[in-house]
Amino acid sequence: MNHRFKILKTAPVFVSLCLMLISANFVKAQDNVITFKVGLFSVTLLSEGQGEGNPGILKGATDEMLKNSMPGGTYPNATNVFLVETGTKTVLFDAGYGRNLFANLLQHGKDAASIDAIVLTHMHGDHIGGLLNSNGEKTFPSAEMYIPKPEYDHWMSDAVQGGAQARNVINAYKDKLHLFTPSEVENAQEVLPGIRIVAAYGHTPGHTGYMVESNGEKMFIWGDLVHAMAIQIPYPEVAVSFDTDTEQAIAYRQKLLQYMAEKSGLRACTFPFLPLVISKRTACADTTLHLRKIEM
Ligand SMILES: [Zn+2]
Repeated sequence: MNHRFKILKTAPVFVSLCLMLISANFVKAQDNVITFKVGLFSVTLLSEGQGEGNPGILKGATDEMLKNSMPGGTYPNATNVFLVETGTKTVLFDAGYGRNLFANLLQHGKDAASIDAIVLTHMHGDHIGGLLNSNGEKTFPSAEMYIPKPEYDHWMSDAVQGGAQARNVINAYKDKLHLFTPSEVENAQEVLPGIRIVAAYGHTPGHTGYMVESNGEKMFIWGDLVHAMAIQIPYPEVAVSFDTDTEQAIAYRQKLLQYMAEKSGLRACTFPFLPLVISKRTACADTTLHLRKIEM
């Protein structure tokens, strides 16, 4: 199967298309807090910051790929958290560094106590930094904590290096812990109403994506499935140096991008690293429509 998505020649079309699609769904947009609708759900991006990606972390990128995808020699990235309000549950997806998280939540009219559930894609520090305060105590007193079991097992292993932060989080939330095993995207099961769990392994052993669905609309929260969208969408075989298992990460990136490309109406959201010049203002790219545009 050819997994190479031919978006390079039409990158400007891609950007404008994203803007159009997302702006049509905005409820409100402020600097670090952006809310839009997925069906009946309210989805809010909480920005932790933006920057320039380091091309030095890319593995398997040829000179031609770099020249085509990032002629300026770098790529934009960002760190974000998503809040999904389903009508019955207020769910936080990851917790970023914890830099702007609580101010952003307040700006959105929420405090930490109003979060019912926290769902983790994986347990790297830029995804769980907001879960403990400086005394090592949990910051979300009411939240149930959902962690993929392979991710939990990885960080609880004695053999893993640098796992203290993850283990501290697990310990602080141990009375609220829910472990689950993701399925392949075709058979993904619900972890909460309207939220399905999707295996996206490789970046870490339990790295997981979430399919958020309401009233026929879908959004895929993909965590670190893609870091450098500018190059890893057209060239999913390009990996990053801190993937635990390079080959597995590539295989899941290829599979899930292909799946999204084939499913009409499915938006793909990246929240550790935002794509392209839209920066923090747009977290979503409509891969499906984009690919159709290419094929026309
Ligand atoms: Zn990560």
